[in-house]
Amino acid sequence: MCYTCCMHLICPVCRRPLVRKDRSAVCENRHSFDYAKSGYLNLLLKASASTGDDRDMVNARTAFLNTGSYQFLRDQLCTLIPDDGILADLGCGEGYYTSAFPCPEKYGFDLSKAALIHAANHDPSTQYVLSSIFHLPLADHTVKTAVTCFAPAAVEEISRILTDDGIFIHVTPGPDHLYELKEILYEQVRLNPDKKLSKGLTYRDTIVISDIFHADTDTLISLFRMTPYAWRTGKDGIDKLKQAGEADITAQFHIHIYAK
Ligand SMILES: [Zn+2]
Repeated sequence: MCYTCCMHLICPVCRRPLVRKDRSAVCENRHSFDYAKSGYLNLLLKASASTGDDRDMVNARTAFLNTGSYQFLRDQLCTLIPDDGILADLGCGEGYYTSAFPCPEKYGFDLSKAALIHAANHDPSTQYVLSSIFHLPLADHTVKTAVTCFAPAAVEEISRILTDDGIFIHVTPGPDHLYELKEILYEQVRLNPDKKLSKGLTYRDTIVISDIFHADTDTLISLFRMTPYAWRTGKDGIDKLKQAGEADITAQFHIHIYAK
């Protein structure tokens, strides 16, 4: 896919189409936005700051994903995603899932520069964009497939950008996801709550997939650093994981499918 001549992004200021000119994307009203050296496009307005995951978080997630422990989720998503039309991955992170999706035209949106540098450097099949997922630089009714893995669903924006036959795929942690990791960290383990959307889109189906992977100490620590548990338990958590040494961990995902 060539993202120079037939790009479907719009100007975040005036909502007119953007076209690429050298290292910038410009609209007819001469609003201009820069491509980073890695190739992602910065469409954040100056007033808002990049607040996404930092480099340590991105490195931990990359190290963990490279173990292949979540590949079964990626493979499953690829079977569900249409191989035509435009795809938007909202909260794409470092592009682990986005890069594999079979669509000809893909856009990945995230607020983390560190994640997008990694994504753009490793995946030329997608145009990555620094942007909030709650204010998307995409025209109404243009996207056939919207995907969000492990991030809040931007329901109003998704409803706006989807074509009439479009779908939204929302991946959330299943009740038992990372149960054994939580057992190491906490005295009492609570199951993850169900995060099905109650309004804004039409619910179609949920696919539940599970797998168990073996994690050595390094993998446990990478995994821990990419979860919210790291914020809550900090160094104490790392000590407990080192003590545990290794573990078999359940990965469980709910893949919710919605229509417009
Ligand atoms: Zn403009």
